[in-house]
Amino acid sequence: MKEYKIYRILLGEETAHSSDDNISDFQSARELLEIQPEPGIVLLDGLKGKKTSDRLKVFWELVELRESVEFCCAPIYLSRTMQQIDILVDGITGNIEERLPEAISILEKSVRISRDKLQDNHNLRMLAFMYVRGEEYSLSPVCSPFSQWIYSYPHMALLLDSSTKASKILRPEDLSGLERLRSFRFDTEMIMALRAVSFLEDHGYIAQDALVDRVRKCPKCNTGHLNYVDICPNCGSIDFNKKLMIHCFTCGHVAPDSDFRKNMSFVCPKCNTVLRHLGSDYDHPLESHECNNCGSKFIEPDVKADCLFCKTRSVPSDLTVVNIYSYKLSEKGSAAVRTGTMQMEVQLFDGRNNLKFNYFCSIVEWMREYRKRYSDEIFTMIGIKFSNLYEVETSVGEELYNKIMDEIIFRIRSMVRTTDITTSSAPDTFWILLPRTIFDNSKILAERIEQLNNMLEMKSENKIEITAKCFQIPTDESDMSAEKYLELFAEQL
Ligand SMILES: [Zn+2]
Ligand SMILES: [Zn+2]
Ligand SMILES: [Zn+2]
Repeated sequence: MKEYKIYRILLGEETAHSSDDNISDFQSARELLEIQPEPGIVLLDGLKGKKTSDRLKVFWELVELRESVEFCCAPIYLSRTMQQIDILVDGITGNIEERLPEAISILEKSVRISRDKLQDNHNLRMLAFMYVRGEEYSLSPVCSPFSQWIYSYPHMALLLDSSTKASKILRPEDLSGLERLRSFRFDTEMIMALRAVSFLEDHGYIAQDALVDRVRKCPKCNTGHLNYVDICPNCGSIDFNKKLMIHCFTCGHVAPDSDFRKNMSFVCPKCNTVLRHLGSDYDHPLESHECNNCGSKFIEPDVKADCLFCKTRSVPSDLTVVNIYSYKLSEKGSAAVRTGTMQMEVQLFDGRNNLKFNYFCSIVEWMREYRKRYSDEIFTMIGIKFSNLYEVETSVGEELYNKIMDEIIFRIRSMVRTTDITTSSAPDTFWILLPRTIFDNSKILAERIEQLNNMLEMKSENKIEITAKCFQIPTDESDMSAEKYLELFAEQL
């Protein structure tokens, strides 16, 4: 077995782990990273972690380690348990020897991963983090009741690209107390981690393991701090009481029993009948609540959910239901780590006319407005989608796959005119905007693209499938955004 280094980051005097010849000590993560360390195990030691400032210190060391290519997936331990930090590390140990088997197994699996590929790809880093922790590793959500995200994946939040991380700008030294608290809660990153996890799930790189919880969120602001209020179904007031009601059989009057009491007997306040026998003179109706605001009587109050953040009141059935899962790395995710590529991404278009998706949508919207004024300014769009890419790649091998894809890409590119504009809305979905082109002509082009399917004679079971369809935004359209149209069109691909 290969010997691995054990690096201890000593943040103070209060060590919980004894010094050892096998352990090299450093004052900070930065000092450790400066020596360009070989792969190893990291132990954070020296602080008791009772004070928030101590925990913050440990937290920032962790951020620095996970940001680095060297330690983004490495086994990291704390020498003492620390509130809020525990969940971010691989474990707590006062004796690193005890954790060596698992730590070494993590390091051994890391050997197969190309560090360069991890550099600017946080998705791949997240997959690699799971991969090196073995097949049994399950990415668990962590609940933080006072946060706006409620459940997130803090391990993943630490692995986001540094350029997209708000925490990078908010170093602890330059923050006042309040901002420190904010940055420690790591909110922006937690929300981004949620998005990243759902991206990985949507693309099949990770798979649901267990359903951990279900939360409901405000449909307007998407936060989950809701106050369920019961209200009068008639006027909406929250001011009502549960009362014992009496129903007079003679006249049908319904009122609280206090209204019927007269001396020692029950007398209907409306028809003056003396009510003697329950069942023959009167009964207790199902209505057992009376509103103090409008006086109406009802069986059950209505229940509404008030958002504590944005104050929107919703019917419970309108709340956004979110299932919270733990995840395992899928076969596809594991392959992505081993090959260092997220296979589904296709670089179909490049160059000047290939726009970011939101710019493309703005142009479509501009052309739509232009067409309103000049009705002969028609334009059409072609959507292209690739299917089975990953499957084909695994069955025919990377080399042949790349050859095939290069050929397809070359042919499609050659069909695109210099005045056409292109974009991509997903790693496998592309759009061409064809100005001054009637539907029938772009239909011919779409058909020619689909004919490439026949060119792909492959011996494997799986076949790359290219779908190309022509679309037009209706001239009598409402206010629907271009993005929404493309979303609808994409469903037809
Ligand atoms: Zn809200
Ligand atoms: Zn009322
Ligand atoms: Zn009566």
